[in-house]
Amino acid sequence: MNPTAYQEIKNKLDPAGVELLAVSKTKSVEEIQALYDLGQRDFGENYVQEMVEKQARLPKDVRWHFIGHLQTNKVKFIVPFVYMIQSVDSLKLLQEIDKQAAKHQRNILCLLQVFIAKEETKFGLSPSELDSLIVTVNQNRQDGRFSHSRIAGCMGMASMTEDLEEIRNEFHALGEVFSRIKSGFPQDPVNTLSMGMSHDYPIALAEGSTMVRIGTLLFGKR
Ligand SMILES: *Cc1c(COP(=O)(O)O)cnc(C)c1O
Repeated sequence: MNPTAYQEIKNKLDPAGVELLAVSKTKSVEEIQALYDLGQRDFGENYVQEMVEKQARLPKDVRWHFIGHLQTNKVKFIVPFVYMIQSVDSLKLLQEIDKQAAKHQRNILCLLQVFIAKEETKFGLSPSELDSLIVTVNQNRQDGRFSHSRIAGCMGMASMTEDLEEIRNEFHALGEVFSRIKSGFPQDPVNTLSMGMSHDYPIALAEGSTMVRIGTLLFGKR
C-alpha cells in the first residue's frame, strides 16, 4: 500500500468533492486495514466470495462497494452488508437485489453499469436498455415495489486505449447517461457518477466524475 500516492490522490479529489473508492480486489486484509488506518472507508471488490471473507475480518464501518459482474444467485451473500452495488446491468438483477434487501430490511444503493467502451467484452446496459429500465422501475415503484434499493447514478469503464480523446468522449457520453438517469428519477438524490480508474482518472475528473475507482495506484500492480 502506498501512503504517498493515497495522500496525493486525496489532495486532488477532496477540493473537488470527489469520492475515492479504493479498489482492493486480490489485496490482503492487512493491506486494506493499513489504508483504513489512514482514514479510507470506501472499498471496492469484484468477487462475491472474496468480499464476504474480507468483510468478516475488517471493521464494520467499512463501506463495501461491489463493482464486478454479479450473478443473481449470489446477491443474497452480499446483501446483509453491502453499501453500494455499482454493477447493476439488468432489471432482473435489480429485482433480486430489492427482494433480498427487503428480507434484511436494508436499503441498498445501486449504480447502473452502462456500456460506453468500444470493446465488446465489457458488461453493462446499452443506452436503449437503460431507458426502458428507467421506465419499468418507475412503473413498478407506483405499485410499491423497488422500495429497498435506490438508483443513485451510474458506473462505466472507458476503453483500454492510449487514445486520450477517445477516453474523453466515452466519459462524456457517460456524463450524458448520468443526466438521463437524473431526469428519469426527479424525486431521488441521483448523485453518483462513478468513472475513472488509475490510468484515466484525471480525464474522468475533467468530465465531471463524482467518484473514482482506484486500485493499482494505491496498492500496486495485481
Ligand atoms: C479493477 C477495477 C478498477 C480499478 O482498476 P485500477 O486500474 O487498478 O485502478 C476500477 N473499476 C473496476 C470496475 C475494476 O474492476
